[in-house]
Amino acid sequence: MPINEVEIVSFCAECGTEFETVTVKKDNMMLTTNEQVWCSKCQTNRSQVRDMAGRLKSIEEEQQSYPKAVPAEPFPGQAAGR
Ligand SMILES: [Zn+2]
Repeated sequence: MPINEVEIVSFCAECGTEFETVTVKKDNMMLTTNEQVWCSKCQTNRSQVRDMAGRLKSIEEEQQSYPKAVPAEPFPGQAAGR
């Protein structure tokens, strides 16, 4: 089934507070807007940043699949050699 709808998340451009998630037709997708939105955290109207919700999620999943950092082990004998 072709994906013809995408989720767009809008954030405050200043503090990153999430404003809303909207589902739009892919054809009507607009990631740039000059529209200002009231930010409850900044207590003022702010420019908004938009991004695709699915893209954010896939980045998160990708990061979680990375191997965990393994602490470096001391060289054998180094601790005992003193
Ligand atoms: Zn804000």
